[in-house]
Amino acid sequence: MEFFLGIDMGGLGIKIAVVDIKGHIIDAVSFPTDITKEPQDIIKRINDEAQKLKNYSKVKYIGFGTAGDVDSKKGILRYAYNLPKWKKTPIKTLLQTYSKRTVFVDNDANAASLGAFYLDTKTKAKNLVCVTLGTGIGGGLILDKKLYRGSSFSAGEIGHITIKYDGLACNCGNIGCAESYLGAKNIMKFAADFLKNRKSKMLYDLTDGDYSKITPKILFDAALRKDETALQIWKYAGDKLGILLASVINIVNPDTIVLCGGLSLASKFLTPSMKTAIKNRSFKAPQKICKIIFSKYSDKLGVVGAAMFAVQK
Ligand SMILES: [Zn+2]
Repeated sequence: MEFFLGIDMGGLGIKIAVVDIKGHIIDAVSFPTDITKEPQDIIKRINDEAQKLKNYSKVKYIGFGTAGDVDSKKGILRYAYNLPKWKKTPIKTLLQTYSKRTVFVDNDANAASLGAFYLDTKTKAKNLVCVTLGTGIGGGLILDKKLYRGSSFSAGEIGHITIKYDGLACNCGNIGCAESYLGAKNIMKFAADFLKNRKSKMLYDLTDGDYSKITPKILFDAALRKDETALQIWKYAGDKLGILLASVINIVNPDTIVLCGGLSLASKFLTPSMKTAIKNRSFKAPQKICKIIFSKYSDKLGVVGAAMFAVQK
């Protein structure tokens, strides 16, 4: 039987797993990302940890998914704002030298998309869009069952679609990007501002009266307990998400959209206003055919999808 190694590296942690051809994890390990260490030392450690995993001896191909901007042809991490030492790191060359195996490198949003294709749809989707709802809003496209990377490997930057032409400033330099509204920190900032003119005893108590301490979990817990203000904030976020997805549906005409990442915990509070915005803003035929699901495997998508880079090579 054939096995693959997947690596998922973010600013906070690194996950490594041996995965079979169907995307099942055979064995896995994870550790925090030490961003003060040199990239080659971290890659060496990844290689050491991988060798301890069950069935690693049967692995021929390794897939490496990383945060940031990746040249997937050369296997170079061009830039990642949360991994400052990794600028222009030739991950493919380094890891191939240590591991003596063929390595594929791509960004983490593309890894999550492949993970969703294998785990959430069991490869049944034909055209799939994956949207990661986290600190940033990531995106990836699977078209005709293949990962679509674009002409400079930059396709799928769904979080930077403009949803308000004179809107809030985004980290990318544009204004009014979906991420400026839907990124976890931006929703929390909206919540703190929203609460200035409203009363919510529950949110006041849960944050000790300091609304800058509000987190997605607090907002979720308050909504579970039917706090009206918390429900309104999720309604606002769901509406913004729906506006974004309406454009995605009109452009890509996918059969499946998979939503994943930290904020998808609030799926039931996001869904009603998201659906209304999609209904009002996208064409009927593509809307009708598109299934929208929240991933059941959010924490595994990156590492499983990375392993699948080799299958998709
Ligand atoms: Zn942007």
